[in-house]
Amino acid sequence: MTPTDGAIIELRRASFGYADQPVVTGANLTVRPGEVVAVLGPNGSGKSTLVRGLLGLNDQLGGEVELFGQPRESFSDFARLGYVPQRHTLSASVRATVTEIVAVGRLSHHRWWRPVIRSAQDTAIIGRALELVGLTDRAHADVATLSGGQQRRVLIARALASDPDVLLMDEPTAGVDAANQQVLSAVLARLAAQGTTMVIVTHELAALADIVTRIVVVQSGRIAFDGSREEFAARTGEFTSSVDHHHEDEDRVTRPKLPGAPASGPLDPRGGVR
Ligand code: ADP
Repeated sequence: MTPTDGAIIELRRASFGYADQPVVTGANLTVRPGEVVAVLGPNGSGKSTLVRGLLGLNDQLGGEVELFGQPRESFSDFARLGYVPQRHTLSASVRATVTEIVAVGRLSHHRWWRPVIRSAQDTAIIGRALELVGLTDRAHADVATLSGGQQRRVLIARALASDPDVLLMDEPTAGVDAANQQVLSAVLARLAAQGTTMVIVTHELAALADIVTRIVVVQSGRIAFDGSREEFAARTGEFTSSVDHHHEDEDRVTRPKLPGAPASGPLDPRGGVR
């Protein structure tokens, strides 16, 4: 296979897992600039393992991973990839201001850790990141005083502060209340409007329906579907519907729930594999 020109992320038959136990197998995936890719699938299907695996955060057991056209083994500029981990909030024992946490995202641009002397560029990028997530007015607040949803926004700002070319987010809207979910969805919409490339593991497809350009479904560790929103709609009957994330049956893909949606059978896990 030839490399895909200009791809930010390219996986070829990649397998990831833990201690030699594969969880994700044979994954082919290409993410190009400007795409907003939603990664869907039942709990435990391997979505986090896929995203963490391509970043090198868990074991790669086979295949190839290329980041910005370079084999991951020889890639070092991880500041170009912003990662927001799953269900992560800041420990209550962290004593730092919002700005200090976001400034950590700048550290990858400094040669080594030292008392942070912020350049004008650092300050500008931190300010822009806080503005994007709507936390400018909390810049000097102690992070411990922020709600879980606000902390999630701090972590998105921290990822943005490294000025990445792609943001990888693992369930950014999970576990926060409805009001904060709406704020977070608006933050993601703002990022999409700016052309930010994003890979978003989510159960909240409906909330992201306007910004998602591509959908990947992971089932039992395999990419069972990878296509445009239109192709997804054709396969599942509907696009702007909620995804049933309580459905634990791995033989069936997440199903549309909108009334009147055409009845659709389970997505053949082999059908969409490329
Ligand atoms: P998803 O993100 O789709 O919910 P995960 O990638 O988190 O799925 O998990 C997929 C499988 O990998 C699960 O069976 C889970 O138990 C296993 N797994 C996840 N993290 C670890 C780990 N650190 N060590 C061993 N197994 C893990």
